[in-house]
Amino acid sequence: MPHTLLLAEPRGFCAGVVRAIDVLDAVLDREPPPVYVFHEIVHNRHVVDGFRARGAIFVDDVAEVPEGSRIVFSAHGVSPAVVEEAERRRLRVIDTTCPLVTKVHLETKNAVKLGYDVLLVGHRGHDETVGTYGEAPERTQIVEDAGEVADIEVERPVFVVTQTTLSVNDTADVIDEIRDRYPDAEVRNDICYATTNRQFAVRKVAERADLLLVVGSRNSSNSVRLREVAEDAGVTAYRVDGVDEIDPAWYEGVDVVGLTSGASVPDELLEPIIEDLKARGVTRVEPVVVAEENVEFRLPQGLEE
Ligand code: SF4
Repeated sequence: MPHTLLLAEPRGFCAGVVRAIDVLDAVLDREPPPVYVFHEIVHNRHVVDGFRARGAIFVDDVAEVPEGSRIVFSAHGVSPAVVEEAERRRLRVIDTTCPLVTKVHLETKNAVKLGYDVLLVGHRGHDETVGTYGEAPERTQIVEDAGEVADIEVERPVFVVTQTTLSVNDTADVIDEIRDRYPDAEVRNDICYATTNRQFAVRKVAERADLLLVVGSRNSSNSVRLREVAEDAGVTAYRVDGVDEIDPAWYEGVDVVGLTSGASVPDELLEPIIEDLKARGVTRVEPVVVAEENVEFRLPQGLEE
């Protein structure tokens, strides 16, 4: 049974998630229901369930929202087509798109204006990639992995952007492959500071842990990547939404457990896991710190405290 718990730092909430949650929180406090939210505000089941209990209505199609209603766009960003549909329906929009995602939208738009074809390294179907792709669908191709690079066909110089929550190592492989094929490609690696730091911390913890637990929802790209990063580093790793999903059999023969969480996960979800481990015999809880984070994004005008 484990005796030591290593806590990865940084872990949990990033600045973009804090901003999105604070915005929706303020809107629900100030406005009468209904308040609609386009897509999950952040990819975490507990956070979304909490807002749903307070009256937020989550939709995946703006056409479902009654004309003139309040709608909040999620942290992952939306395509221009969604913005236009919201305008047509006279929806009162508050946009919580993370500024680091907005940056990728702007890079994509500018690249097309400058005459490039865009390669968007990311996961098809992920909210963020769908939104970025929507900036210029006729000039953008999504590339999920290095194996897809051989199939790319372009007519113009190549500009590369990425989803913000990818695996740092896998993305480097994809970009190397693109550079081999298109040596003049302009490359922007947009993996954000929070994704990078959390993966780096997991690698550090993996050097000493026998088992690594990642708290995060299955649709949270950065949480899923953290589990993969740990496995790549040679440690058995599981992703769970909370303590109730942990199988105690995982702890058999384990001395050192590592614990981290994705960028959309409240730290309070880790508390029951830490308490459970202490009850099982963990006597040493040690932070493994790889970076200090002090990034903060301002709330949209009118919602500042
Ligand atoms: Fe922004 Fe990065 Fe957080 Fe996504 S993971 S919301 S890009 S800071």
